[in-house]
Amino acid sequence: MPWNDKFECMPVEELKKFQLKKLKETVSWVSEKIPFYQKKFKEMGIKAGDIKSLEDVTKLPFTVKNDLRDNYPFGLCAVPLEEVVRVHASSGTTGKPITGPYTAEDLEQWIECMARNLWAAGVRKEDVVQNAYGHGLFTGGLGFHQGATKIGCTLVPTGAGMTERQITIMQDFKSNVLFCTPSYALTIAERAEEMKVDIKKLPLRVGVFGAEPWTVAMRQEIEERMGIKAMEAYGLTELCGPGVAYDAGDQNGLYINEDLFLPEIVDPQTLEPLPEGEKGELIFTSLQRRAMPMIRYRTKDITQLWREPGYEGRTFIRMDKIYGRSDDMLIISGVNVFPSQIEALLLEIEEVEPQYRLVVSKKGYLDQLKVQVEAKKEVYEAGEDRRHEIEGKIAAHIKGMMGIGVGVELVDMKSIARSEGKALRVIDERPKQER
Ligand code: ADP
Repeated sequence: MPWNDKFECMPVEELKKFQLKKLKETVSWVSEKIPFYQKKFKEMGIKAGDIKSLEDVTKLPFTVKNDLRDNYPFGLCAVPLEEVVRVHASSGTTGKPITGPYTAEDLEQWIECMARNLWAAGVRKEDVVQNAYGHGLFTGGLGFHQGATKIGCTLVPTGAGMTERQITIMQDFKSNVLFCTPSYALTIAERAEEMKVDIKKLPLRVGVFGAEPWTVAMRQEIEERMGIKAMEAYGLTELCGPGVAYDAGDQNGLYINEDLFLPEIVDPQTLEPLPEGEKGELIFTSLQRRAMPMIRYRTKDITQLWREPGYEGRTFIRMDKIYGRSDDMLIISGVNVFPSQIEALLLEIEEVEPQYRLVVSKKGYLDQLKVQVEAKKEVYEAGEDRRHEIEGKIAAHIKGMMGIGVGVELVDMKSIARSEGKALRVIDERPKQER
């Protein structure tokens, strides 16, 4: 049974009515409180009263990350700061970070999202939960912390890093559940092997991983290496943090908390809405957020949506695992390539480790891709010829499956930096203005 069957299993018609009511309230709220939206609505000639159906959401303007940066830190906040009980911020690799302020009610709703997410992953009160997400401004650490506390778990806030200590704690405290990024889960698994600790023999049963793209192949790799079920959390600071969408026991897509977030898919170029079942950019409108509601926020994440009766009676619409971000899409020999596609193909080659890096450069007008990947120990021990043979095998596999020519280099063992948070997998060496 889901954590909150009233909402998670609400009949679709009722859910849509609820969403419409909340959408109208949100549009009125932002047009009363936020000058940025007042101006945008005025420019587009829209009034709150124009929203009469859920489809009318398409009349509203989009919001992009730069709007948040331009209004840093609290320009988009709809309430006075004394009503804000928490502020998170995203790392913001370029330019200023973006902020996420919460009222007490917003915080409760986020905790509810995380409780639904963790419950769906099979996390229960009796579990000893090791939270190895970074704690701090990043929403990951505290988001998972609050959700697990709501369920009543025995929570161990290890934070990210100090990998040996993570493993010792896992042994000593008999942790059943691990929270971290998928790439950090791999780092932990590898370190345990080096320490001759067999994670499969420990009580660890389930991991809840997220905050970065990972393929189904990577999920299987982690499940096999650690002997656990690898479940997922999806979210972004702009909406609340993790807990926006999550998978359940069938691991078949991620249920979106639709009572709180209205999703759409649009063509990332034309911004035209796309029907269910078509891939495009995921857009979200917050339905209940008070401090900083988002209207049609462009996530840049590429996926598709579909609705069918869900696991344990869930009725929420589902999204596929994120294929990648539109800004990470590469065009190699005229073919659109997401790093995740390369990841999935690499993991089909049994001689390689799941540690790779994609280096993008420019030759003339064309983007070029070099895949750097680590191989298993046996390959290095077998000598230079074997190394070249595997490089050829990988290049041929990628060519065969995607029709693109890429350079492949088996780099030295353990030479790719191990991730403790969001992994850096794409190194872009193209001149900035040509990306
Ligand atoms: P958070 O602090 O919640 O991780 P950020 O704002 O730092 O949020 O990053 C959000 C972005 O991280 C998303 O837009 C998406 O690109 C990526 N992300 C988060 N969760 C997942 C996931 N489960 N799968 C793929 N990408 C994800």
